[in-house]
Amino acid sequence: MAEGPTHSPIPWETLEALLHRVQKPARYVGGEFNAVIKDWDAMPLHVCLAFPDLYELGMSNFALQIFYDLLNRRSDTLAERAYLPAPDMNAALRAAHLPLYTLESYRPVAAFDLLAISTAYEQLYTNLLEFLDLAGLPVESTARDERHPLVIGGGHGAFNPEPLADFVDAFVIGEGEAVLEELVTALLAIPAADRETQLDALVALPGVYVPRRYRPIYAADGRFQALEPRDAHTPARITKRILPQLPPTPVRQLVPNVDTVHNRAVIELQRGCSNGCRFCQAGIITRPIRERPPAEVLADVRAVTDATGYEEVALLSLSSADYTDIAALLEALQTAYASEHISFSLPSLRLDAFSVELADALSQGRRSGFTFAPEAATDALRARINKNIRTETVLEVAEMVFTRGWRTVKLYFMIGLPGESDEDVQEIVELAHQILRIGRQARGRKVEVHVSVNTFVPKPHTVFQWEPLADEETVLRRQAILQQGLRARGLRLAWHDYAESQLEALLARGDRRLAPVVKRAWELGARFDAWDEWRNPAAWEQAIAESGLDVAAYVGRRYAISEPLPWEHLDSGVNLRYLQEDYMRSQRGELLPDCRVQCHGCGILQHYASLQEECWQCPTRP
Ligand code: SF4
Repeated sequence: MAEGPTHSPIPWETLEALLHRVQKPARYVGGEFNAVIKDWDAMPLHVCLAFPDLYELGMSNFALQIFYDLLNRRSDTLAERAYLPAPDMNAALRAAHLPLYTLESYRPVAAFDLLAISTAYEQLYTNLLEFLDLAGLPVESTARDERHPLVIGGGHGAFNPEPLADFVDAFVIGEGEAVLEELVTALLAIPAADRETQLDALVALPGVYVPRRYRPIYAADGRFQALEPRDAHTPARITKRILPQLPPTPVRQLVPNVDTVHNRAVIELQRGCSNGCRFCQAGIITRPIRERPPAEVLADVRAVTDATGYEEVALLSLSSADYTDIAALLEALQTAYASEHISFSLPSLRLDAFSVELADALSQGRRSGFTFAPEAATDALRARINKNIRTETVLEVAEMVFTRGWRTVKLYFMIGLPGESDEDVQEIVELAHQILRIGRQARGRKVEVHVSVNTFVPKPHTVFQWEPLADEETVLRRQAILQQGLRARGLRLAWHDYAESQLEALLARGDRRLAPVVKRAWELGARFDAWDEWRNPAAWEQAIAESGLDVAAYVGRRYAISEPLPWEHLDSGVNLRYLQEDYMRSQRGELLPDCRVQCHGCGILQHYASLQEECWQCPTRP
């Protein structure tokens, strides 16, 4: 890309003059341990990796660290980072007429060839627009051309990106690492091409979705019908990309300048999950399971701790206790690193005795809080959501936790689940009290039980994708049951406002007609939708009212099982028949065993025929 005056790095003195006026200026200066500085002029391709939220969250995003590592390993590519500044720094940049810049070289984001931006979850969508605008880029993709970076989104939100269809040039569906080589090759081959030629090159890449090349069709009653390719070269369906094995662990991980959400090294232990929870989007879209071999984990711990100085390593996974022979791996890790005081954490444990044993072995006397996610309080409702755990086991595990020295137990539940009654919610109250009593018997009066309750939001590609969000009256009534029932000393309750869940559901299920609403809400001041101190429900209310869209038709309606869905052109690899059959099983209250015990033929392996040889995971595949 040609270098103009607006593409030169911002001088340090200019930035320094702003930094003493904002909170946590270390967020905006870069220079982190392990940051990579490359020669701009020597690199043919310049990539800005972006997470459109605060530095602290962006630095904890492991996907961004993987891409930073993979791209900067290349001799033809430079990758730098940018996050969305907090409102005070945002205002300071705007007042000084300075654009958003990358942390490595202070070069404007607009100078890069490619802006790869995370669309991990719905609450980032207005931030994405703010990010583009602060970078001096037109927010609508049709208003940008080859003088601007290509904007490519990715992450879990990309599995229904229609509410962002007007703003993002292309989305990678699935694992970006699997597309990276082809994407870089394609972009290097068209350095000076016009935007339409660039988009042609992206359309030709498997797993890349270019929204502008599709036309939405709606029925006379307003319902979504289909997305039609605009030309013969554009595929009707995009199948997600996956890697046969996990990518190499980024060794020289960035060490943040300020305290972040997770301040430790990370090794991805496995991708995918075999539990089959019917509400869980990650469990479907990250299939199949792929584990990092134990010898590689052991070697990675050495390399990562040497390169970062971290003394804690998180072993990342959707369900760590399911990793094959996790106990042996932990023992080997603890034996190997005992003398160096390196500790290990497993972020997502199951609700069983085995997981308590694992946490006990890892905690080395630190007993801050033990987290469980029963999700529902009755056996029948847990069977509907395919959470295969009985109440008596929950109580036994709680007793084990308190007996082993923990004083605080954190419980995660959902309300508004399909088939739920007020009585099911009352059972959450009873269960929390029972656990508190067990804790007091074991540890005395100082124990605490924290109950965190989310409202169920139906997500695309899940078994519950056809289900509605519960209506406001029902959710408020059930929240009131919890508020009244969980008032005792030693109990704490946290919940979400209904408006937050409704917005999440609207954006998760939305079609392309939501894009102007996202833009209008942003124009009216909506951003940081996940932040209590900054979110702006009034802006959303006004934007929705002006649009005339019927929110209830999007979020409050049970979709027919045969109905066209706005995300069905994006293929998670799990076939529709499997989702439909499991939906029926849910309505009959039937559990589906973990697919490490028995394969249910979800379709993922038929889709990726080559993986049947290469991928030794999916342990029970036929
Ligand atoms: S193919 Fe079988 S084992 Fe693999 S994810 Fe699907 S159901 Fe599970």
